[in-house]
Amino acid sequence: MPAIRLDGKALAENLRAEIAAKVASRVAGGQQPPGLAVVLVGDNPASQVYVRNKRKACDQTGIRSWLHHLPADTSQRTLLDLIAELNANPEVHGILVQLPLPHQIDEKAVIDAIDPDVDVDTFHPENVGRLMAGHPRFYPCTPHGCVQILQRNNIPTAGREVVIVGRSNIVGKPLALMLMQKPTPNNPAGGDAIVTVAHTRAPDLAALTRRADILIPAVGVPRLITPDMVKPGAVVIDVGINSVGGKLCGDADERVAEVASAVTPVPGGVGPMTIAMLLSNTLQSCERLDG
Ligand code: NAD
Repeated sequence: MPAIRLDGKALAENLRAEIAAKVASRVAGGQQPPGLAVVLVGDNPASQVYVRNKRKACDQTGIRSWLHHLPADTSQRTLLDLIAELNANPEVHGILVQLPLPHQIDEKAVIDAIDPDVDVDTFHPENVGRLMAGHPRFYPCTPHGCVQILQRNNIPTAGREVVIVGRSNIVGKPLALMLMQKPTPNNPAGGDAIVTVAHTRAPDLAALTRRADILIPAVGVPRLITPDMVKPGAVVIDVGINSVGGKLCGDADERVAEVASAVTPVPGGVGPMTIAMLLSNTLQSCERLDG
């Protein structure tokens, strides 16, 4: 039987509708809408697309957004001054600095400068520490998108073997933390799963991936995961977004759908969910800061 397609685009649309309804009800009650400040430095074409998509999603849900587009030769001091200004602005409930930054700017210094209360990307060390300790302020957007796809499709994770391929700070590492933790009212994304994280030094990647009830490649290598690397009936959540000959594809070969029980498409899987979770964090921050 061919695998079920886990439609992240449709799920993200539902989530956006939920968020839009909450924003509308705030505004109708006389409260200010959530606000997201987006900072883009330079002219990286991929970053420009990401920023445009995020702002469009804000518009669709009634979240205010401001774009601060700075030239590629912006100094670190200028960027830090802008972040200090945004931190102090009561209309701003989320600050997103689009990475990567030009080489003259220290990414870590910039992330550290964002007030953790409005760090909706969840990169600040305080927020990473809170996630690690099991009492998160926000969940990081892409890992949370993966968890939402599992939860909202009623795919159980407790006691099941999850194999994540990739150990980045943005995806693999926080996703592993979330899925291994016990779920609690303050940590509802906890997955209670048995988690393995594979990376470049795995001596036999296929031996690890074949163990997975839920396989999550987050690598950036087109079609790395072939059908023989997937356990029959496994669920594959494909985080990878790769451009091959002008077309997007994931880290999993499309033919894994012949072996798996469910797969996320690329595009239209985890990508739209990442943006939906960013909106959700911005709304949550607004509710926390403004009531
Ligand atoms: P990264 O380059 O920071 O990390 C990649 C990880 O994969 C590394 O930990 C590395 O050890 C591992 N790896 C690389 N080659 C490997 C191999 N042959 N075998 C095993 N492990 C290997 O990348 P990232 O930022 O985590 O992104 C990963 C992918 O996810 C990219 O395609 C990126 O575009 C995509 N991504 C998608 C979303 C989304 O919203 N869907 C968000 C973030 C990243």
